[in-house]
Amino acid sequence: MVTTGSGFADEREAMVERQILGRGITDPNILEAFRSVPREAFLDEQHRSLAYGDHPLPIAAGQTISQPYIVASMISAAEVKPGDIVLEVGAGSGYAAALMSRIASRVIAIERQPELVKIASERMRRLGYDNVEICEGDGTRGWPEEAPFDAILAAASGSHVPERWIEQLAEGGRIVMPVGKPGAVQQLVKITKSPAGNLISETLAAVRFVPLIGEEGWGDE
Ligand code: SAM
Repeated sequence: MVTTGSGFADEREAMVERQILGRGITDPNILEAFRSVPREAFLDEQHRSLAYGDHPLPIAAGQTISQPYIVASMISAAEVKPGDIVLEVGAGSGYAAALMSRIASRVIAIERQPELVKIASERMRRLGYDNVEICEGDGTRGWPEEAPFDAILAAASGSHVPERWIEQLAEGGRIVMPVGKPGAVQQLVKITKSPAGNLISETLAAVRFVPLIGEEGWGDE
């Protein structure tokens, strides 16, 4: 297991202190995950020196790795905890999946871009995150083979919460996803399935994400 890249340990700790803890995220499991996963290892050579900046960065296939604070807020909102089975839609670089794998039992991360699936799968193997599975497909369909999920997080913004995610959510489970049009300001939404099966919906924050493209998302233009 690789936990520290060469020369980035101080920058990583400063990122945790200023961007995560400094903005009110205090869950020790989340802080420890951000301390242990080397963000620089999820970036290409060209962007590695910017790994601990307070912003998203480009990755392959014209996509992005999200801002660390946004990833931390989503993991916090989704109440990811030890023992959970988590579905992430929009694996991208694999960074968020790797972070959640430090807290949960297992993470299934779906990505629609084959190039990213290949890069992220190899990365997980190389870095030793063996409780993460990167799967290729349209994540708006969920991943019925591994359902039910305790938490479902989307790293791309849809028009609505896909019906299949609600079906594949465990009782007591949480969905956290951005909802809104591509290019516009979107709303980060949380849906909780009560033990009795009722759905509780909350709007958390204004965000900006790339589009969720698929059968229950936006079209691929
Ligand atoms: N979580 C990622 C990380 O840590 O690097 C960031 C992901 S990026 C903001 C959003 C990703 O969602 C893109 O890689 C995009 O290809 C993917 N995506 C969009 N629609 C999707 C869908 N229906 N199923 C799976 N992935 C999708």
